[in-house]
Amino acid sequence: GSLLSAHGLRKAYGPTTALDGAEFSIHPGEVVAVMGPSGSGKSTLLHCLAGIVRPDAGEISYNGQELTGMTDTALSALRRSEFGFVFQFGQLVPELTCVENVALPLRLNGARRKDAERTALTWLERLEVDDVRGKRPGEVSGGQGQRVAVARALATSPRVVFADEPTGALDSLNGERVMELLTDAARSANAAVVLVTHETRVAAYSDREIVVRDGRSRDMERAV
Ligand code: ADP
Ligand code: ADP
Repeated sequence: GSLLSAHGLRKAYGPTTALDGAEFSIHPGEVVAVMGPSGSGKSTLLHCLAGIVRPDAGEISYNGQELTGMTDTALSALRRSEFGFVFQFGQLVPELTCVENVALPLRLNGARRKDAERTALTWLERLEVDDVRGKRPGEVSGGQGQRVAVARALATSPRVVFADEPTGALDSLNGERVMELLTDAARSANAAVVLVTHETRVAAYSDREIVVRDGRSRDMERAV
């Protein structure tokens, strides 16, 4: 069965309808690309699925639990323990070193500093950026920073990684490398990935595509 699924999601911001009956499903370990033009509702769909935004109507089921019936406290606990996040920019804490940034979600989940930093270093190695472990985010390149962000998203062993335009600020070479490392690392950890992108090249790293248009989504057969 599916790990995360949504049915009939609706969300309006005042007069603007962001989601108008969106459907979604993802299986454990699957990489799904959410595609569509700017303003079509992709980010809103991701935010609803991740329990960050509450839909006005519809159901979201994660691992047998109905998200819409959960309290804010329960939702944030679920996000911290089961989900990882990668965004386009500004996600690393500028005052912390790269290894401290990756260790942070582990510390928030109760790990001791030494254990958290050991795990963080393993992830930096896997993402091929252990050489920047002692640097602050402002001292590394955009591509290195995104790899650190991917390491941080995976460090807590999430079952789902939500990635919103994770390569949007990178040139195409760095973007492809980040996608390769993100999808390889997620697959070896059996984490599912919900990837929001408007770029076909980025979506090519997915197993399946869901296209959003005017707040409605549908599954696409991959034309290979
Ligand atoms: P996409 O990610 O595909 O670009 P979004 O989900 O960001 O689309 O936005 C869908 C629509 O909802 C757009 O018209 C956008 O302007 C609007 N929207 C999204 N978030 C908000 C918000 N917080 N307040 C008001 N309007 C919003
Ligand atoms: P993306 O390009 O990833 O779709 P956007 O630039 O549309 O992101 O939105 C960035 C942030 O601003 C999101 O958190 C979204 O909810 C919010 N947002 C988008 N459109 C509006 C809007 N019209 N009014 C207020 N907030 C918005």
